[in-house]
Amino acid sequence: MEKYDVIIVGAGPAGSTAAYYTTGLKVLIIDKSDFPRHKACGGGLMSSRDWPLELENYAKIKDQLTAYSCESLKLYWKDDYLLNRHFKHFFDQISRYQFDNLLLEEALKKDNVTFLKFDLQKIEKTNYEGIAGYTLTDGQRKIFATNIVGADGMHSQVAKFLGNPPLKRHAFGYCLECDIVCEKKDLNVYVVAGYLNEIGYGWIFPTATGYQVGVGIVRKPKHALQYYLNAFIERALKKKILPENYVIEKTFGGALPLKVTRTYCTDNVLLCGDAMGLVKLLTGEGIYYAMLSGKFAGLALSQNRSNLKKFYRKKVRPLIWDTYLTPYIPPKIITLTFGAIFFRVVKFFDRPLFLRKINIFVDIFMRLTMHRKKFQGQSFYRDEKITIEKY
Ligand SMILES: Cc1cc2nc3c(=O)[nH]c(=O)nc-3n(C[C@H](O)[C@H](O)[C@H](O)COP(=O)(O)OP(=O)(O)OC[C@H]3O[C@@H](n4cnc5c(N)ncnc54)[C@H](O)[C@@H]3O)c2cc1C
Repeated sequence: MEKYDVIIVGAGPAGSTAAYYTTGLKVLIIDKSDFPRHKACGGGLMSSRDWPLELENYAKIKDQLTAYSCESLKLYWKDDYLLNRHFKHFFDQISRYQFDNLLLEEALKKDNVTFLKFDLQKIEKTNYEGIAGYTLTDGQRKIFATNIVGADGMHSQVAKFLGNPPLKRHAFGYCLECDIVCEKKDLNVYVVAGYLNEIGYGWIFPTATGYQVGVGIVRKPKHALQYYLNAFIERALKKKILPENYVIEKTFGGALPLKVTRTYCTDNVLLCGDAMGLVKLLTGEGIYYAMLSGKFAGLALSQNRSNLKKFYRKKVRPLIWDTYLTPYIPPKIITLTFGAIFFRVVKFFDRPLFLRKINIFVDIFMRLTMHRKKFQGQSFYRDEKITIEKY
């Protein structure tokens, strides 16, 4: 049986970043898919001009990425137009097919890191050649490690092994998205919250080859997701956001967690990214948090073996607060309150009479949904003022 110091389950952004930051240990990354592989995702790297300050592996791949820079947002609540905001830079839209592969390649440049296609089915606590650790099996082969990083996404086997119950219906979002190839005229990002009276939103992101259109709904939707996606595309055509001539290239479904797992670390097992439920509740943003938690998992294993759990908990706690607003309020309450009250308040204050003054509600909303101005000295976004549209 092959023996490793660390087995990282999942080669998404969390797993590849954990591997990149794990030094001095023999590391195996396993994934059930061959790479490159696609992952259902909007591909929006929020405030990514600052990512190189925190994520060395991102700094190394960014120049090879095909990215489309999005700079303005049009936000709707159901059919009502709420606001239009221009940013110095909003996010870079990338393809996860390319992005995840580049990150994995960067991790595999390290001498101590290897990759194996392996569909993890079961984990057992064992003692192998006198060493305490874990045996992982795909039903046929067995591999052994003294430490595990669970970066295996929303339906994590590692999270299950730690005793975490499956997510309840209100604690994850169902999504369907498609890549549309066409000529791009409208360069705004569109977000329609509360679309068709569901808790969730529809989005249109400009991409390098056209647009990505998707819908995400919290709790089980009333209709099949394809129904919402078709209606959303129809709406975009009527409003002339999408051109008449277009081709739908790929359609992908996926889910994203909206709740941090009860147990996300022990003395030898750490969860990161979607496996620990680290996704921003208000926006569905998860790539940044997956990479940062992966980095902390790698650093904890390399530098803080004796204090692994304490170090990791201390490092990821601010990420939990950032994604979740507060870990103590159930997601259901937040989504309902947000939909019913907050949007209306924003809309009320975002009108000409108030625009000449500081629109604090819009500002609060923007601060809640984006992580910017964190690096006071070097931040690309430091001097950015939110420009308020003239009516
Ligand atoms: C439709 C949609 C749109 C989104 N849009 C955005 C966006 O615009 N911006 C943003 O920041 N976030 C977005 N997110 C969230 C983001 O995609 C995730 O938060 C992010 O992918 C988490 O990365 P990860 O590495 O934790 O997990 P993943 O990227 O899910 O990677 C997990 C890996 O584990 C592997 N795996 C799973 N089970 C096993 C197993 N049993 N054995 C071996 N390998 C296994 C999988 O094959 C996969 O490669 C979106 C999510 C969805 C569903």
